[in-house]
Amino acid sequence: MPPLYALTVHEAHTLLRRREISAVELTQAVLERIRRVEPLLNAFITVTEDLALQQAREADLRIAQGDIAPLTGIPMQIKDVIVTKGVRSTAGSRMLEDFIPIYDATVVERLRAQGAVLVGKGNMDEFAMGSSTENSAYGPTRNPWDLERVPGGSSGGSAAAVSAGECLFALGSDTGGSVRQPAALCGVTGLKPTYGLVSRYGLIAFASSLDQIGPMTRDVEDCALVLNAIAGHDPRDSTSIPVTPPDYTRALVEDVRGLRLGLPKEYFGEGIQPEVETAVKTAARLLETLGARVEECSLPLTRYALAVYYIIAPSECSANLTRYDGVKYGYSYQETDNMWEAMEKTRQYGFGAEVKRRIMLGTYALSAGYYDAYYLKAQKVRTLIRQEFEEAFRRFDALLTPTSPTVAFRLGEKTADPVAMYKSDICTIPVNIAGLPCISIPCGFADGLPIGMQVMARPLGEEVVLRVAYTYQQATSWHKRFPPL
Ligand code: GLN
Repeated sequence: MPPLYALTVHEAHTLLRRREISAVELTQAVLERIRRVEPLLNAFITVTEDLALQQAREADLRIAQGDIAPLTGIPMQIKDVIVTKGVRSTAGSRMLEDFIPIYDATVVERLRAQGAVLVGKGNMDEFAMGSSTENSAYGPTRNPWDLERVPGGSSGGSAAAVSAGECLFALGSDTGGSVRQPAALCGVTGLKPTYGLVSRYGLIAFASSLDQIGPMTRDVEDCALVLNAIAGHDPRDSTSIPVTPPDYTRALVEDVRGLRLGLPKEYFGEGIQPEVETAVKTAARLLETLGARVEECSLPLTRYALAVYYIIAPSECSANLTRYDGVKYGYSYQETDNMWEAMEKTRQYGFGAEVKRRIMLGTYALSAGYYDAYYLKAQKVRTLIRQEFEEAFRRFDALLTPTSPTVAFRLGEKTADPVAMYKSDICTIPVNIAGLPCISIPCGFADGLPIGMQVMARPLGEEVVLRVAYTYQQATSWHKRFPPL
């Protein structure tokens, strides 16, 4: 048997149900692992050791009464942009360094209702802006596969923690790729659900028309289990879709016969590392031998997605982040009697460079005279991109693409060049623009570093996504590799 911290959620659940292990033992093994590897990785902003042990004891009591849900007693990490009652939630920012929320996000409430155990809060790029976790005010996270490399971002702490055995699963958030890109770079499975499927209540807002919370796990089965827990209508989030989600474990079917899979050519070729392209195409061929019908296709508007994103996301963030004024939340500059100076200095010292850059970009795009040329135009192109996907999903059940154009890059490699950093999300952003579900799963290695592949589908097509990804994982073992820390 692998060490307890390396188990999948479903493996651990079986052992807990059979009382072969206790939730306290499992949690202790994970906490011990955190103590061992955290000095190398920095995947957590806060470790909640006492709380975790208390919750684990509660889980054991529940199990003793024969009451066990799929996540009861399972140690989890929550990205620090998702609020947790009584547990500091910083969003990776100095601005919220001492912010202790008075309520739980809906997703946290639902996970806790199943008895999942919180071991801590995930390191991340400040306010989820970034692709490497280097924009964290709490120091960068390192990639467990190579400590000189980034784990991706913005949910880099969550991806690293799942990969290295510092939790059994995590929740990240994905505005332009922040669940999937770090999942790819750290060799784990990450799902961005359909926009509106998972409640955003208690997710500290970045770009509200794009933000979605998603599971980060060791395999597709775990992904379905976590999605089951968090998906579903929430009256406290006005963008939440009023549907009753299916049981996603029913989509864990090892069969892709007859499914039509498209390979959009714009996601291959220029800018894509050759090993990444080869790995994804090899995966497509494997799915073909398993009975899927694979065909190349074209999504020409994809090339505008990055530009559209970098108008819309900063515009929304510039509005969302006005609330950090030193009055209502978090950091507050006090050394002045002048109200305007206090707000100015609060934002000057409280925000990091990338956040300020986004606020300025967004404020500019929204300003009178530029609004029509930038923001309005971006919204129109957004509609066209969405229509192009709709068109594609008349022909295809799912699309396969790389997740990240390259494997993990070195720390510091892209920090001086924001546009180079922005291009890390070239393959992940289009589905956020269109609100589609999309998973990233490991599909190979280059120079010892994981490669990720995306499976995307039409809105609320999570079951197709899970089925394709599950079938692929049943036939491969990339997702079973563990980093040699
Ligand atoms: N890397 C992208 C950005 O910096 C996406 C971030 C995200 O999905 N939160 O905006």
